[in-house]
Amino acid sequence: MRPFEDAPILLTELEQADLQAWVDTAKLQLALSDWSITVSRHETGKDTYASTYIQDHGDVAIIALSPECRAMTAEELRATLVHELLHPHFQRVTRLAERLIQGELGTRAEAIIDEAVQITEEQAIDRLAYAIARWLPLPTALR
Ligand SMILES: [Zn+2]
Repeated sequence: MRPFEDAPILLTELEQADLQAWVDTAKLQLALSDWSITVSRHETGKDTYASTYIQDHGDVAIIALSPECRAMTAEELRATLVHELLHPHFQRVTRLAERLIQGELGTRAEAIIDEAVQITEEQAIDRLAYAIARWLPLPTALR
């Protein structure tokens, strides 16, 4: 599985290395030392500032940014990256909800619950990222 690789390349090798170094430090501060987290050089290809692909087995995550990230302040980029780094913590809750829903309910109920869980998860992560980001160093990449 090579997520994001159908999307255009966004980051130079230097920018990727700079962001990867920031993520390597931040993941230790966010209790994710057992995760393998990589910053993709490709765009997210989605209608969001950034997105994270999480591989269910092996605690592997890949983060991709959007071109809009270039216009962000260091504070905004930091909050965006912290948001993405909080997704792995929620992954097991999300997968459990999906498993419980699948097969037990009709597809319409499944779609409605999936969407409600996703929206609530994004709101919770945004609030946590806002609260936590100030304690992490500002990223120097994309300046
Ligand atoms: Zn999110």
